[in-house]
Amino acid sequence: MKAIKVIEPFKVEIVDVPKPEIEKPDDVIVRVTSGGICGSDIGIWNGTNSLATYPRLIGHEFGGIVESVGSAVKDIKPGDQVAVDPVISCGHCYACRIGRHNVCRDLEVMGVHRDGGFAEYVKAPAENVHLFHKKFDESLLGLVEPFTIGVEVNNRAQIGKGDKVLIMGAGPIGICVMQVAKRNGAQVIMTDLVKERLEKAKSMGADETVLVSEENLEERLDQFTDGEGIPVVVDTVCIPSSFEQAVNLACPAGRVVCLGLKDKPSSICMAEITKKELTIVGSRLNNHCFDEVIEGFEDGSLHPEELMTKAYNYKEIMDALDMIKEHPQDVLKIVLKFED
Ligand code: MN
Ligand code: ZN
Repeated sequence: MKAIKVIEPFKVEIVDVPKPEIEKPDDVIVRVTSGGICGSDIGIWNGTNSLATYPRLIGHEFGGIVESVGSAVKDIKPGDQVAVDPVISCGHCYACRIGRHNVCRDLEVMGVHRDGGFAEYVKAPAENVHLFHKKFDESLLGLVEPFTIGVEVNNRAQIGKGDKVLIMGAGPIGICVMQVAKRNGAQVIMTDLVKERLEKAKSMGADETVLVSEENLEERLDQFTDGEGIPVVVDTVCIPSSFEQAVNLACPAGRVVCLGLKDKPSSICMAEITKKELTIVGSRLNNHCFDEVIEGFEDGSLHPEELMTKAYNYKEIMDALDMIKEHPQDVLKIVLKFED
């Protein structure tokens, strides 16, 4: 079968590899129909993803049609449409024991630490394979994973009905966090430096948007919250200064969500956290959020078709990567289709 392999930074090839076979009783083999390209794939490609090892079959956002299942698999059968959770954990470390397996000390993510889903077929444990209940557009099955990032952020910040949420950054993660927050009954204000991104965010459900290069964010937040201050801030910009700003903007008893993986320090005063008794949380990958996203796709409250900017055949991977490199602001999500 064909698969997309990053041999070393800047060297991507479509390679022939053996098709996976059922080995363990809980194995599921999926014929991949759809893969989403993520910023972290770009990082593996250009050598800036510090977590990746080479060579690597990439892809952690993928889904497709079940091809075959092991003898112990009962509720998944050939022909089912599925999305695959790429998070693999040990099951017995502290994080796993308290139900936080997405930060397992021996965490492995398919497509990053082990081979992933940009291939014609992929093998995954049954517990990582999540069923669609009605027929869904095959090219969108790979977009469950990015929305699970949005569910995880909402869970970590306990975003619910009536909450007012500031999302800094209107890229694909910001959009996914926003649509999940709207599904949870929150009101959302989003920022960006690019006007077109904010227009798109608004058309996808954001209540308000702020072009921070031209508008005063604090004034807009004052209006948005009737002077109370913003209780939830999600930083998807992920640079040292955006994290500082998030902590400064949050109102007393507020929550701040951090998603960045940069290892540069931010300057944050402890008094800011203590006096306001802020809750600052990290959010990484997803903790069993696939079924909630599939439910949102099926009930029409989450919109993967709007997140997808363009679909390419997997053989055009270089064109897809060039599109993201050359027009980063025009792209939310590029989908790879695995068909001839
Ligand atoms: Mn991703
Ligand atoms: Zn573990």
